[in-house]
Amino acid sequence: MSQRVCNFSAGPATLPHEVLIKTAEDIVDFKGTGIGLMEMSHRSPEFQNVIDGAEQLLRELMHIPEGYQVLFLQGGASSQFFMVPMNLLSATQKASYLNTGTWAKKAIAEARLFGTIEVPFSSEEQHYNRVPSQQEYRVADDSEYLYLVSNNTIFGTQFQEFPDTEKMLVCDMSSDILSRPVDVSRFGLIFAGAQKNLGPAGVTVVIVRDDLLARCPDNIPTMLKYRTHANKGSMFNTPPCSAIYVVYRVLEWLKELGGVEEIEKINRKKAAILYQVIDSTAYYRGHAEKKSRSQMNVAFNLPTPELEAKFIAAAAAQGLKGLKGHRSIGGCRASIYNAFALNGVERLAAFMNRFADENPA
Ligand SMILES: *Cc1c(COP(=O)(O)O)cnc(C)c1O
Repeated sequence: MSQRVCNFSAGPATLPHEVLIKTAEDIVDFKGTGIGLMEMSHRSPEFQNVIDGAEQLLRELMHIPEGYQVLFLQGGASSQFFMVPMNLLSATQKASYLNTGTWAKKAIAEARLFGTIEVPFSSEEQHYNRVPSQQEYRVADDSEYLYLVSNNTIFGTQFQEFPDTEKMLVCDMSSDILSRPVDVSRFGLIFAGAQKNLGPAGVTVVIVRDDLLARCPDNIPTMLKYRTHANKGSMFNTPPCSAIYVVYRVLEWLKELGGVEEIEKINRKKAAILYQVIDSTAYYRGHAEKKSRSQMNVAFNLPTPELEAKFIAAAAAQGLKGLKGHRSIGGCRASIYNAFALNGVERLAAFMNRFADENPA
């Protein structure tokens, strides 16, 4: 088997190696049943244990209080951009969205199909290099909810604190769910595509407060109603079984490691190592303002695009892969989600120092 590389991909992203090994075994023969993971009925007791186990562990690790549903849906995080307003907003109602990046902007465009959307803050003109402090914007009194993206994957910015407001919060946590403790009770709805911090592509987790299910209008398609999936334990139709299985394994891995409280410490340490390199030289420039820096995606530039291309190629040649920034901002980006190991970050930091010495601007 080939040597595993340090995979800095933004998503789908690196998974814990032991999860991959267990998954590989179960794909062929699920726990000695003689049936492979992908061949197993979703109505079997074996799969019921998997989906129940995944839900249970997510509740435990996130300390999800009573009164919330955990759903495993398809269509990616992007489908939540329309499902949220379709279920929670009527044509005469208003919602507020913070425009802190590409994913927020896309969500705003979708939400406008369903109601009135106000945008009390946007950092678009500053190339999304920061998230706002709460003093910088005001949410309309008649707004139904305040929508935000907790971590802006492409630009490497992250809310350090969530808005302290009476307003119901709706949050896209696709790229930082389970990376730090979150008080779920402050949110009406949280969603996350799995492929960054939770598992493979193909499943999206939605955590939704029970009382919101009553809001889902009757005249929307059955599959697009949160209530449908809540009433059927995410098995109204065939769920993405193998993706849910991997999420379950990742959650087990995280629990064994000490849970969210423990991984947060490791995440802080990892990010600090890279930001320290960036701050110690004028050679590297971080994209995000310091106060908005993400612990999950570190976006940075070198003195010229030519040096960036050389950096990315030279890093890849040493097994440090996936460092190219998103096509919308260019530069470099190191995605260092939960499953990305500390020693890979240390290797990148050493490489960055060496590269800067050997390739003066
Ligand atoms: C990746 C990402 C998305 C899009 O996810 P899909 O599952 O591809 O639709 C949405 N929001 C954030 C914050 C992301 O990082």
